[in-house]
Amino acid sequence: MSLPGFEQKTVSVLLPIPTDGAYSYGVPDGMELQPGDYVQVPLGTREVAAVVWDRQDNEIDPKKLRHVISKFACPPMKAEMRKFIEWVAGYTVSHPGMVLKMVLRVPTALEPEAPLEGLSFTQRQPERVTPARKQVMEFANHGLSWTKSGLAHAAGVTPSVIDGLAKQGVMETVELLPQPLFPKPDSTYGTVELTPDQRKKADELRAIVKSGVAGAALLEGITGSGKTEVYFEALAECFAQGKQALVLLPEIALTSSFLERFEQRFGARPAEWHSELAPKAREKTWRQIKTGELQVVAGARSSLFLPFDNLGLIIVDEEHDLAYKQEDRVFYNARDMAVVRGQIENLPVILCSATPAIETRVNAQLERYTYLKMDARYGNAVLPDLDVIDMRKHPPARGKFISPLLIKNIEETIARKEQALLFLNRRGYAPLTLCRVCGHRFECRNCSAWLVEHRFRKTLQCHHCGDSHPTPEACPECGTLDHLVACGPGVERLGEEIIEAFPDARTIILSSDMAGGMKRMRLELDAIAKGEADIIIGTQLVAKGHNFPLMTLVGVVDADLGLANGDPRAAERTFQLLHQVTGRAGRAGGKSQGLLQSYQPEHPVISAIKAADSEAFYEREIDARRLSSLPPFGRLAAIIISGRDRRETETYARALRQACPASKEVRVLGPAEAPLSLVRGRYRFRMLVHAPRSFAVQNWLRAWFREGPKPRGNIRVQTDIDPQSFV
Ligand code: ADP
Ligand code: ZN
Repeated sequence: MSLPGFEQKTVSVLLPIPTDGAYSYGVPDGMELQPGDYVQVPLGTREVAAVVWDRQDNEIDPKKLRHVISKFACPPMKAEMRKFIEWVAGYTVSHPGMVLKMVLRVPTALEPEAPLEGLSFTQRQPERVTPARKQVMEFANHGLSWTKSGLAHAAGVTPSVIDGLAKQGVMETVELLPQPLFPKPDSTYGTVELTPDQRKKADELRAIVKSGVAGAALLEGITGSGKTEVYFEALAECFAQGKQALVLLPEIALTSSFLERFEQRFGARPAEWHSELAPKAREKTWRQIKTGELQVVAGARSSLFLPFDNLGLIIVDEEHDLAYKQEDRVFYNARDMAVVRGQIENLPVILCSATPAIETRVNAQLERYTYLKMDARYGNAVLPDLDVIDMRKHPPARGKFISPLLIKNIEETIARKEQALLFLNRRGYAPLTLCRVCGHRFECRNCSAWLVEHRFRKTLQCHHCGDSHPTPEACPECGTLDHLVACGPGVERLGEEIIEAFPDARTIILSSDMAGGMKRMRLELDAIAKGEADIIIGTQLVAKGHNFPLMTLVGVVDADLGLANGDPRAAERTFQLLHQVTGRAGRAGGKSQGLLQSYQPEHPVISAIKAADSEAFYEREIDARRLSSLPPFGRLAAIIISGRDRRETETYARALRQACPASKEVRVLGPAEAPLSLVRGRYRFRMLVHAPRSFAVQNWLRAWFREGPKPRGNIRVQTDIDPQSFV
């Protein structure tokens, strides 16, 4: 109770929960709090880490006011970071608390690192010197101090030997200071001689970093032009200034080759940040980024929310990649939000790609971004000759998927001791299984999707919810035995076809289903790079950034896949993917070839790739977008309504649509049943909002949701600004 005449001191706190804004908390006597301070507060029956905010949204009845429990010693969140959180929430129509939650991924990292207990040699001799004890003392004599397990391991003894020595005062306990996870990068460690054109681009980027002024630059260059070498120069400048840098990579768990190249150039590895990081490493990494001990991070999209206090540069490699889009809780594109973080923190952002997103290309052409373009491959590497195999004229044998023309080229390639890559973006054995007798199709019980046969694992799997069943021998509908038939190809099935055609070749199938996870995948990729395979069959994992010097043939098994659906971005996606895949060939010089199997060779996307005419593709696609006011010339937002009961969900979706604020400028399509109408047992309906570029679509959406009927029970409404996926 506060005395009359005394104001109870309160503070507003943003919590990592899905509510609209900050809450008031009481401040205990003697505690000083500033905006940005990390605090522990009570929430219901729990305690959570949260951040003191400078804006109060929810007034609390003073009688119900609860108090801040404690303040973390960790330095406060910078005002820029708080602004960034608000900005992302505003743009994505999400709760700021849910964005904060992405920042506060490891609350334990807010506590200082507990000092490790170490041991050091006192030079005193034990009563009895056994060989094991002698061994320990020899090791301990070299090092200053050791952890018990580290010393035991090094000396090859059990920890009890060390306990014995400690008891006799031979070893004494000391406090070990926490060590940085990685040494600082050295800007001048392994400099590379750049070509004149690379040098020119690198100097421009260095100048941008040196100026330290906000702004985005697009570094566009065909695969193998040396974009990585060039942006390494920008990083070198940033490190030379003593600032931190962030490199975003789409498939971090797979980019061991990037980490190695980085180490060769800078003499130290970057810290990694991705979903496979062990909890302890995650905690240390977060803390050391905050304290500035870590100078550089290479990470997946979530690393954009790491607490750098001294950031000087963000690089977004393969900026067009879909992996940057999060489609869960807060729907954001890390590429776009990186540019925003750069604006707010006043630092440059470099976007790199061989096939930039249409949005990025337009921004560069309109000079909103600095535009740097590299047109030649490094050294004697030349781009592959591209050709389309017209599948109507050269069809595969019955039940097969590879045209005799492609088979012949594979044969010639491996005869020259070179490698061939077959690309098909379909995991598993076959995308559809049916019963030949009754026509029963195997469909997921939770999703509107066919079950995909995985023959190695002998399962039928749903690629949306992960549900998996042993492949039955009999049809569950009519009971007939052994009459199930696989329809269409997956990588496993192609593998079968290849092994039949080339029984002596060394064939590897690469997909995310591979047993052994990312570790195994890295090993396989290394093996391929070393020439330990002849034919590689892979999904889009192999398309991303790997360098296979011996690869001279890339065959795209189904170039048309992806062009057929009604997705407004289908052409762009297909172009990017096919360009990326065919770019895997011929990176080490000499002649190389890309062959696209297609049933519609005259399709503009296929012919642009064949002609290696990116400009023609961009021109056409940008014109088409402009004519139909699609992004970036107009705005799109998707609203996804889902629920366990189909009727209720649809009724709610219609009611919400009815409440939509009138506007002459906005068009709302739907609600319509989503192409993926059932996922994990939830029925899905979609609306698509199409507005002019100048229209403040977020404000309009917020007003709509505020005024409209509220979702009840298990019904959920998700907003996807700038949707990349339409299923
Ligand atoms: P990109 O990122 O544009 O695909 P990379 O930076 O990966 O291109 O370069 C392609 C290959 O060429 C790599 O193996 C790289 O080491 C090599 N390379 C590029 N530029 C140079 C250079 N100036 N000196 C030595 N090697 C280079
Ligand atoms: Zn499913």
